[in-house]
Amino acid sequence: MNFSKIPKIELHCHLDGSVRPETIIDIAKKDGIHIPSFDKEEMKEELIAPLNCESLDDYLKRFSIPNLVMQSKESLKRITFELFEDAAKENVKYMEVRFAPLLHTKMGLSIEEIILSVIEGMKEAEEKFDIHGNIILSCMRTMSVESAFEVVEKGEKFLGKGVVAIDLCASEDEGFCEKFIDPITLARGYGFRVTIHAGETGIGKNVLEAVKLLGAERIGHGVFIKDCEEAYNIVKQKQVVLEMCPTSNVQTKAVNQISDHPICDFHRDGIKVTVNTDNRTVSNTTMAKECDLVWDEFAMNDVEYKQIYMDSVQASFANEEVKESLKKYLQYI
Ligand SMILES: [Zn+2]
Repeated sequence: MNFSKIPKIELHCHLDGSVRPETIIDIAKKDGIHIPSFDKEEMKEELIAPLNCESLDDYLKRFSIPNLVMQSKESLKRITFELFEDAAKENVKYMEVRFAPLLHTKMGLSIEEIILSVIEGMKEAEEKFDIHGNIILSCMRTMSVESAFEVVEKGEKFLGKGVVAIDLCASEDEGFCEKFIDPITLARGYGFRVTIHAGETGIGKNVLEAVKLLGAERIGHGVFIKDCEEAYNIVKQKQVVLEMCPTSNVQTKAVNQISDHPICDFHRDGIKVTVNTDNRTVSNTTMAKECDLVWDEFAMNDVEYKQIYMDSVQASFANEEVKESLKKYLQYI
């Protein structure tokens, strides 16, 4: 299968992990921002996490440089537009991009300005390219509960205008869900859909709690339900969808190598899985590369691709009209 030509859907992609290296250099030059190098190859070295990272925390260090240049309305808009452009050019037809608004307030932007700039970048790309998108607001679980409330309260007015869901991300501690029950419950009440990063660093039980305590409809990664029977069963029984990111999972040592990745076993056992990049720059990847990697490694076939494509459509937080338009691409697979 030639994955660069086949229609694709991406549900798990971080804006700050997917900034073009040349754009970082360009914005830094224009705005007089200090970055470690203005050379593209050297910048790539700084941004791309090696396959032999030590951990998720080691991987997350790569996000500090992009965030330096994501502090103005113009740069947020441009970076979002370019991410959708990159995705559209490899035939991604629908993409949900997530970001944490609170990381972009260092130069005085308000949460509302930040969210609006990202939406504008997305809308501009939707007009120009054959792609639809939606935005997921991430709350950093390394920050306070109050900060999560702030994102929910200020993000609410953008529901139905480009924002669809709430997420918890960053470093994963055991039992983090309990702390965030109130803001996530409030978000659900407002109409936010819910996806939660969980089960990425060895703690399958976090997935169980994300579903039970936070009402997660989708789980970012979820790799470690493989070691937690209760989590595995609830995901399977409730058909909670896993947003799996194969290369990222190797980098963060969720799995040691791609052959150890559970995505194919999960799929063949009736768990709903989707394929995603996580971070196009930090993981040095594309949707086509991720699909190639998985389909090659596990000798999966086109029937399985169609199944996962349709599961991705169903699991997306898109409206019915967009979902119908995405189903039409099935004939090209
Ligand atoms: Zn992620």
